[in-house]
Amino acid sequence: MPIVENIRFIEQEIEGKNVTLIAVSKTKPVEMLMEAYNVGFKRFGENYVQELVEKYETMPKDIEWHFIGHLQSNKVKYIAPFVSLIHSVDSFKLLQEINKQAAKNNRIIDCLLQIYIAEEDTKSGMTELECLEILEPENFKNLPNIRIVGLMGMTTLTDDETQIRKEFAKLKVFYSTLSAKYSTIKILSMGMSGDYAIAIEEGSSMIRVGSKIFGNRIYNK
Ligand SMILES: *Cc1c(COP(=O)(O)O)cnc(C)c1O
Repeated sequence: MPIVENIRFIEQEIEGKNVTLIAVSKTKPVEMLMEAYNVGFKRFGENYVQELVEKYETMPKDIEWHFIGHLQSNKVKYIAPFVSLIHSVDSFKLLQEINKQAAKNNRIIDCLLQIYIAEEDTKSGMTELECLEILEPENFKNLPNIRIVGLMGMTTLTDDETQIRKEFAKLKVFYSTLSAKYSTIKILSMGMSGDYAIAIEEGSSMIRVGSKIFGNRIYNK
């Protein structure tokens, strides 16, 4: 896999668009990540805690690690010392645990709230209403160690471009109302290998691209 060429290609596509590329390296060996790192690419996304911790321990310490998968409360403690951004916060309970572990590490951890936008019910996330409730100031009084910096969403698994576009556009509308109201909210994480071009057209500011950089995954984790 020409990893470096793939990254350069995507970087060219997003140039001047205010979009940040996260290279999703789940299931891929450290050697492959290092190919990217060695040419100066330092933002990786992982979705399994144990795998992320192993890679963090083996690799250089100036990497920005993004956690993008479903996060269990009891595993937050393993990534709290070093994670840069958690994309997949789907409950208030999880946010409370992230705050607790961030405090233990003297950190403020940036989080995105994952919003449920797909038609299928296999994708996790919260509804817009749950998100609004979480953002109520009284819920935040006791969470000084987390900062909600944006939203994340994943579309229905379909080839129907119209459907995908509609789901991204809906999230963008919700994001815009929130970012107008809360100054910390500035990241909209949407778009993967198959749909990031549409996501960018619909207002994404952060794309999470795996297979288009590192090749298909053998196990579809
Ligand atoms: C695996 C994964 C990606 C990347 O998927 P590709 O289709 O390989 O680009 C992006 N976001 C999340 C949440 C993922 O789990």
